[in-house]
Amino acid sequence: MSSHKLKPGVVSGKDYLTLVKACKEGRYALPAVNVTGTNTINAVLEAAAKNRADAIIQLSNGGAEFYAGKGCPDTFQAKVLGAVSAARHVHMMAAQYGVCVILHTDHANKALIPWVEAMLEHGEAFYKETGKPLFSSHMLDLSEDDIEFNLSESARLLKRMAKIDMSIEIELGVTGGEEDGVGSDDIDNAKLYTQPEDVLMAYDRLNSIGHFSVAASFGNVHGVYKPGNVKLRPDILKNSQDLVQKTHGTAANPLDLVFHGGSGSEKDKIEESLNYGVFKMNIDTDTQFAFSEAVGKFVEKNERAFKYQIDPEDGTPYKKLYDPRKWLRVGEEGVIARLNEAYVDLKSAGKSLALCDADKAKCA
Ligand SMILES: [Zn+2]
Repeated sequence: MSSHKLKPGVVSGKDYLTLVKACKEGRYALPAVNVTGTNTINAVLEAAAKNRADAIIQLSNGGAEFYAGKGCPDTFQAKVLGAVSAARHVHMMAAQYGVCVILHTDHANKALIPWVEAMLEHGEAFYKETGKPLFSSHMLDLSEDDIEFNLSESARLLKRMAKIDMSIEIELGVTGGEEDGVGSDDIDNAKLYTQPEDVLMAYDRLNSIGHFSVAASFGNVHGVYKPGNVKLRPDILKNSQDLVQKTHGTAANPLDLVFHGGSGSEKDKIEESLNYGVFKMNIDTDTQFAFSEAVGKFVEKNERAFKYQIDPEDGTPYKKLYDPRKWLRVGEEGVIARLNEAYVDLKSAGKSLALCDADKAKCA
């Protein structure tokens, strides 16, 4: 075990590959949580530490913009600098929690390619400064464009990213629903299932350039829907794995797959997907609700503290309840509770690769 222990903190390059390999060999996956500020970031770090597990922290373009502040006048720069600022926060704090963290960005469609390129400029500067990239991986989602454009743009950006030890996540097939304005509810059903031939084409184009992961579609949908509306078929993933394995004579499960739209998914389908090379499951809707539900209950229970600083009837001071730290913490605890559940579903609790103090003592 100790042979593949990693230094706690943000992992990239070879260490990122070590983490992905451990997930796939151990048939477990990491939750990739969309964050919007320090509260959600710290909640993910705390949940990972409490579960002795590693985590993936990611920002959508909207999450990054929110991180920079909704009043930031230049919205493009807000999306870029918000992501950079959040990444720097994670670089500063992750090791303190004793866990390994993959830093990622979420869906970038054609219109958002300049966003990815601007973040790369910051990533290259950070690499010069520290020898590490700012993000472990960016996602490029050109699944709504034709496959030739999708793969040539992915190849172009991966060439640039590989130079600074970064990985790329691409999307083939379409995840239903929308994530922060990217995607649509109105798509042809066949596109909801990734075609193995497309995955093979991606492998042929990208594998020699650098590391890539694939958001493959197997009926998954962003958001939470009424039961029965979504038919998850994880076995679809096996067809792509088998085709690449057969064509290139690789070991089993050569592809590193990403499960989008993990919120609200049936537990047995999540478990099944772990057999087919899924190492990352995106979760956003459920952690959003977990934060808000917890805050909602707190406000309901302490209604008067959100109306009066001092109760006009009996003079009770409410400062300790309306202090934003009090209810923001309650929201963080909601996220942590939901992630405890995710770590069980994804079988990654107790599997952190981070070298801990106990390991160091053993080594000494
Ligand atoms: Zn997604």
